[in-house]
Amino acid sequence: MIPEIEKASTEKIKAFQEEKLQELIAYVAEKSPYYKRIFKEHDIKVSDIKTLEDLAKLPVTTKEELQHYNDDFLCVPKSQIIDFVTTSGTLGDPVILGQTDKDLDRLAHNEAISLACSGVGENDIIQMTTTMDRRFMAGLAYFLGIRKLGAGIIRVGAGIPELQWDTILKFRPTYLIVVPSFLLKLIQYAETHGIDINTSGVKGAICIGESLRNQDFSLNVLADKIKSKWNIELYSTYASTEMSTAFAECSEQRGGHHHPELIVAEILDDNDQAVADGQEGELTITTLGVEAMPLLRFKTGDIVVAHTSPCACGRNTMRLGPVVGRKKQMIKYKGTTLYPPAMDNLLNDFEEVEGYVFEIYQNEIGTDEILIKIASSSADHKMMQAIKDHFRSKLRVSPNIEICPNEEIQKLRMSKLGRKPISVIDKRQ
Ligand SMILES: [Zn+2]
Repeated sequence: MIPEIEKASTEKIKAFQEEKLQELIAYVAEKSPYYKRIFKEHDIKVSDIKTLEDLAKLPVTTKEELQHYNDDFLCVPKSQIIDFVTTSGTLGDPVILGQTDKDLDRLAHNEAISLACSGVGENDIIQMTTTMDRRFMAGLAYFLGIRKLGAGIIRVGAGIPELQWDTILKFRPTYLIVVPSFLLKLIQYAETHGIDINTSGVKGAICIGESLRNQDFSLNVLADKIKSKWNIELYSTYASTEMSTAFAECSEQRGGHHHPELIVAEILDDNDQAVADGQEGELTITTLGVEAMPLLRFKTGDIVVAHTSPCACGRNTMRLGPVVGRKKQMIKYKGTTLYPPAMDNLLNDFEEVEGYVFEIYQNEIGTDEILIKIASSSADHKMMQAIKDHFRSKLRVSPNIEICPNEEIQKLRMSKLGRKPISVIDKRQ
């Protein structure tokens, strides 16, 4: 199930996207109060935007703008909204995104082709270990996509390893949809309860929320740890509510594939200019085919690298490497620039660490400091020194370390909406 356009030449893909882009521009110029105003303010006519390069004539849309003018982005009467989802805003209040009936069809199509990209077929059974409610888009997207694909679904929801294993042994799912660090919890539970994980019938995991790979696509520490115990394939998928689109890995596992019919992707620098090929930059997206709240040049806040060489799977679309980090969480540490995922990777090297959070704050001279709060029942001076040394040699930073009770760490890791665990608490202004 590879959409024809994904195997087409780069030129054809570009021409295809430009046709869709022109439809989108005409649509928002007529329906979107927000973009109508932007077009007027910048003296932009619908006919000015014909090519992907023409997009540069439009200002970017920031998360703050989406939050501040939330209602103005809506292109349909509220009565046409079927599903209301929210995404965390940067200014405190959540941002509301509505989806019409047509948007839900688009979401189903997106997820069906994304799961198919990772090898899921109609004969598979997928166990969802992620939440479907809490105003969350992803769970619903999986449900709709799996249904469209004709595969089976078991909606177990988040947490509870016992119920997860009971379900795996009863229903014999072939794939799990899961936050990868939760796989470690499942392995641990199986080990202490005499369950043989490698005869459980699970052949793969569709992983969300955390990276599995380093920038060269080799497995990171977390994925390595999982694979050393459980012989399953791990596929990364990257998506966000605002994009309503996923970038999923294929069998080659060399980045998440772009779906040209659903989204235009640009990689921009701090001045909103396209970065050179292969360079890190902020993923900036323009949604295609979205009816309720289409977005033009929306800056996602995620720093990524795009890969454009053709893929051995037969697709010719751009691939996104693992998210390097969130732009807002960039840490400037004594001349070094780093993002929290690199620190996650290092701490996963220590078996003794049972849980952790990073606190980033500014010291009195205005530079960034890192405090790692660690839960560990076997913490001693030697371990703390080993962690410090590891950070110094790998990242050239020297964090402060504090040992805390496990309950405190677990509480800190719980995000407000309880969707997925957080590992970074950013206390900077
Ligand atoms: Zn591929």
